[in-house]
Amino acid sequence: MTQTAPLRIADRPAAISSDWEWQLDGACRSGDGDLFFHPYGEREPSRSRRERAAQAICARCPVLLECRAYALAVEEPYGVWGGLTETARSEILAGRNRYRLRRHVNVS
Ligand code: SF4
Repeated sequence: MTQTAPLRIADRPAAISSDWEWQLDGACRSGDGDLFFHPYGEREPSRSRRERAAQAICARCPVLLECRAYALAVEEPYGVWGGLTETARSEILAGRNRYRLRRHVNVS
């Protein structure tokens, strides 16, 4: 089996601060961060209750759109981001992938 050497730090792409600076203004920074990520073994109805509480914080967040765009762009698998739950993001991404697939099939 062939192994590739890890990238040296100097060879890694630099972080672009404008890509993440919006996070400094997130409404979740001053609240209960545990609301945004599910604890191990969480079940309904606790999950929905926790997600609704997180979404209420997102609803008054000045960077909701940036956060949502980021989470969808990186396909963030966990937590509430930009007012979207894991399930909501996964449905959006599945729809986007179906759309891409349909376009690809129609264009080819
Ligand atoms: S939209 Fe929600 S998760 Fe994103 S930064 Fe704002 S409060 Fe935090």
